Amino acid sequence: MQQIILKFGGSSLADTQRISRALDIIEDIIDQGKQPLTVVSALGGVTNTLISLCDMAISSDKSYITSLQDLISRHKKIIYSLVKADQQSNTIFRIQEIFRELRDNLNGLFLLRELTPRAHDLIMSCGERVAAILIAAALQSRDIRTEYCDARKIIVTNNRFGSAKVQFPETNTRIQSHFIKSIEPWIITGFIAANTTGETTTLGRSGSDYTASIIGAALNVEKIVIWTDVDGVMTADPRKTTDAFAIPQISYEDAMELSHFGAKVIFPPTMIPAMKMNIPIHIRNSFFPEKPGTVISSQGTLADYHATGIASIEHVALLRMQGSGMVGVRGISARLFDCLAQREINIILITQASSEHSICFAVDAQKTDLAIQILEETFQLEMETGMIDAIVPERDTAIIAVVGDKMRHKPGIAAEIFRALGRQQINVKAISQGSSERNISIVIAREDEHAAINVLHRALFPIKEKTVIYLIGTGLVGQEFIKLLMDGKLQLNGVINSRKMLLHSDGVKVNKLVSHLQKKGKKADISHFLQMMKVDPTPRKICVDCTASQDITNCYHDILAMGVSIVTPNKIANTRSMDYYTSLREISRKNQVLFKYETTVGAALPVISTLRTMLETGDRIHRIEAVLSGTLSYIFNTLSSDISFSNIVKRAVEKGFSEPDPREDLQGIDVARKALILAREIGYELEMPDAVPSSLISDACKMAASSEEIIALIAADDAAWRKRITALQKNGKVLRYIAEIKEGKITISVKEIDANHPFYHLSGPDNIVAIYSDRYPINPLVIKGAGAGAVVTAGGIMGDVIGIAGT
Ligand code: ADP
Ligand code: ASP
Ligand code: MG
Repeated sequence: MQQIILKFGGSSLADTQRISRALDIIEDIIDQGKQPLTVVSALGGVTNTLISLCDMAISSDKSYITSLQDLISRHKKIIYSLVKADQQSNTIFRIQEIFRELRDNLNGLFLLRELTPRAHDLIMSCGERVAAILIAAALQSRDIRTEYCDARKIIVTNNRFGSAKVQFPETNTRIQSHFIKSIEPWIITGFIAANTTGETTTLGRSGSDYTASIIGAALNVEKIVIWTDVDGVMTADPRKTTDAFAIPQISYEDAMELSHFGAKVIFPPTMIPAMKMNIPIHIRNSFFPEKPGTVISSQGTLADYHATGIASIEHVALLRMQGSGMVGVRGISARLFDCLAQREINIILITQASSEHSICFAVDAQKTDLAIQILEETFQLEMETGMIDAIVPERDTAIIAVVGDKMRHKPGIAAEIFRALGRQQINVKAISQGSSERNISIVIAREDEHAAINVLHRALFPIKEKTVIYLIGTGLVGQEFIKLLMDGKLQLNGVINSRKMLLHSDGVKVNKLVSHLQKKGKKADISHFLQMMKVDPTPRKICVDCTASQDITNCYHDILAMGVSIVTPNKIANTRSMDYYTSLREISRKNQVLFKYETTVGAALPVISTLRTMLETGDRIHRIEAVLSGTLSYIFNTLSSDISFSNIVKRAVEKGFSEPDPREDLQGIDVARKALILAREIGYELEMPDAVPSSLISDACKMAASSEEIIALIAADDAAWRKRITALQKNGKVLRYIAEIKEGKITISVKEIDANHPFYHLSGPDNIVAIYSDRYPINPLVIKGAGAGAVVTAGGIMGDVIGIAGT
């Protein structure tokens, strides 16, 4: 069975709801027929709480007792809501055992006032141990057989408590023989391990990521998925710049470099075991599992920019050692680095002027005084004789690192960086570029950190105006519209119909979309759909509403307010109350988005856009006359003394020119809607009751229940129609169903017209619109052509979309 490592960080395990989501994700993997091995961190914030419990106990602050009680209650509460009643007491018993051990250790601290690294690690381990027990029990409660593993049995380390080094040969052997025992899902403690004598050690803060990679590599799994609270490895810490976005694909090296320089989303050593075995690491957002996240792999970084990301380390100090005695003297740097390394002070960055007169390096701010003391001891002689000056620290500094494989051999990046910082008047205190050219690090004042990240992000990741589409409705028009997306120029990130939906921030596959939606789609949930549309970071988003639903128009305000443009053939929105009509336009203006609806009148015929251009260029519309229904147009164009009215209606239904229930067309409501849209377009503030259509069917027919009855009742009027048409033919006239908008009024009626009228020569289901204006007072501007049909309508919708996207 294929194995997959999942890892949930504390942020994905902060409360009942989040743990439930994590369990859903584990279940999903099981449903796919794979074996999940799930590494868990302590619940969100627990490790920090354990540290503060130690601090309290060691400083004789008794409140550690109540804080511990709170911690126990927090875990119990989750057990009560996620673990089945008959398993609760057993689970609580098991975590109480660990908490009892924790309390004893804290009591010991309180009395002895001494905290060894060994005891510290033992205390830290409690968070992961209780979390794994709790989550295994919650998964069991979903009737899934689950195995629990305390990683201290399988990961062997040296004695460096707090950040122990893994002994791989022994660890790999133990892992390989341990997990062979069961093909059930495993829940494994992250972060913790044991030395060769079985004492508890930890792998360093955020070490659960590493646990996942160690186990994944030992078992050579398909992939390692790290579930967290952000969309992946992002171009910068999203807490520091809202411009940051997820990087779809990144190399192991870039990921390692970013995490070394502060991108907390993944613990730096995590990449190494996975890289050795060529196992991809996926970073995914457990709050939005439908998002694709980031893949870290040997495929390298896939990005449109020269840099991959920006990271920062907030609390550093810059130390400078200088003096005339340093010039040309060999071994000074070696002694400097050596003495600090021996006392476990990590040097984050170094610069040395070529004059060799000074060496400048950065260390963790907390280690500043210790570093100075060590240097003063080591170079005591040189300092006493004045060959080396006193060490000058600059305390409140931060390091910003711009990272990227693609920066190598790319001239101009450094210039770009310094220009951007200079424009913002941010002073650069030190610079360092590794010879790999994968990283340019800059030391600045800590107070400038956020400003620097933002300004650099804007300079290095300029926003490209990409457009994505969200489609509502997959009826005939929707399906034709999907076909037009096949060329791939525009990305479809979501599609929903009344039953199912599909969402993907990287684009759903357009090929065979409708059947895919039916088979693989999730249950339709319009509010979730809108939420995803809202959080989609793409700069330009367009919602295409291909329904005729009033409910969807109820969402238009929200959609526009979230900065999404709307394109629709749905006539409802433009024919609701005038208040609603004007509010849509106001919200669009305020949010700088567009509401486009060319296809609500005459399908793809450029009616609305022509009217708009005329008005915007100073023309004044006097009158509009129009045949606006393809169905009625077909009926009157075909009607003659040789064929009955009811027969033509039947034919129109069969050919798909009309609605399935032809009465909807024959009552003229559709024409009334279109006429109202045109009237409003040219500035008349009218409501639906102002557009009274003349009905072509009797009241009895309106009430009829079956299609046979409908046709029979229509046929009852056949003789009257024949008589009228025979008389007209003699006089060289025809019938047309015409809407007229004039002097603030709409009239809709069947008119008898002769060969002088522009509507005389009309064929099939064509629509025609004649506009009389200052510029066209006698001979109107005429727009004529197919005014119905899914293919032309979809084309018109795409026209509106392209008008917004500019593609
Ligand atoms: P977990 O609890 O899942 O282990 P962490 O808090 O350890 O989560 O890591 C996720 C956090 O890392 C995010 O909330 C984010 O603020 C931070 N972070 C810093 N830099 C980056 C980056 N470049 N990309 C994504 N997240 C980042
Ligand atoms: N719980 C540990 C920490 O907070 C380990 C981890 O979360 O990965 O550092
Ligand atoms: Mg983490």
